[in-house]
Amino acid sequence: MSNPTLPPMPSERLLDLRDVQVGFATRDGRVAAVNSVTYHVDRGEVLGIVGESGSGKSVTVRAIMRLLAKNAVEGAGGSIRFNPDGDRELLLSAEHKNSRLMREIRGGRIGMIFQEPMTALSPVHTVGTQIMRTVMLHRKCGRTEARARAVELLGKVQLPNPEEMVDRYPHQMSGGMRQRAMIALALCCDPVLLIADEPTTALDVTTEAQILDLLKSLQDELGMAIIFITHNFGVVADIADRVAVMYLGRIVETGSVDDIFYAPKHPYTQALLQSIPRLGQARVRRLKTIRGSVPDPYNVPKGCPFHTRCDFADAALCGTELPPRKAFAGDQSALCHFAGELREAGQ
Ligand code: SF4
Repeated sequence: MSNPTLPPMPSERLLDLRDVQVGFATRDGRVAAVNSVTYHVDRGEVLGIVGESGSGKSVTVRAIMRLLAKNAVEGAGGSIRFNPDGDRELLLSAEHKNSRLMREIRGGRIGMIFQEPMTALSPVHTVGTQIMRTVMLHRKCGRTEARARAVELLGKVQLPNPEEMVDRYPHQMSGGMRQRAMIALALCCDPVLLIADEPTTALDVTTEAQILDLLKSLQDELGMAIIFITHNFGVVADIADRVAVMYLGRIVETGSVDDIFYAPKHPYTQALLQSIPRLGQARVRRLKTIRGSVPDPYNVPKGCPFHTRCDFADAALCGTELPPRKAFAGDQSALCHFAGELREAGQ
């Protein structure tokens, strides 16, 4: 399943996405959801993916898991490669959607935490049953061993009294407890990669902080890599090593968490950071907002996808030509004609 036309992945690389394109065929035409997305995840690191709703964050990870909707149309030429053990590159392509290997990877080598556990978990099975089925499927073990593993996992995610929790249905738990059970389910086969798709969006801030602490401690303990999807820059600062910022289906900037927070090069990243309230900020100063709204995906503007909202847009250039990706020191890059030249003006 490896692709001989691509250079081999370096040994530290776990996941490599190149030029991934996903659209959806609808009655009103084809909608492009993900456009030429390229990013990677190294072993043991946390990649934060930030962007507004509709930026293509979740569709990209669903393409990795091969969980795209039936009307999804993938562009030719893109590739998603996964190297779980460091010695075999696997191509996660659409043809392998229901292959045996893909079923082993999904839920086995790659775990996924969904945004809303109430809909992701089955309402008619206990959380124990759901974990046990996954364990029995991937580890080929019996019920007794699987139940012991379910209890162990529920304890690991710090649910009180796991021997009792294992027999509870999702509706008998609070939102925070359900999300912990969802994390236990995602971790049940010791994944090398955990995809967390906005796992704290539906939770109150106290529970959100607890879940983030839990994910950080589990990552330290288990050494897995995490793709953490969120629309909240504060959460990314807390958990990520590297960050990718998405807008209208494209990665517009990527870099280390320090580079993105202290030296952002793309006007969109700069505007997002300026819209975050900060402790000690003068009360009389209004928070900056990004004017306008994300364009209709049926009608993506020509040129730079951000030019309709960008304060620095050059109508002749930005409105007609897609910007090149400019590279900076430390693996930082930005998709802007003037990347790195606008920070002073933007402050
Ligand atoms: Fe703004 Fe032009 Fe850069 Fe796009 S290319 S972000 S419109 S300055």
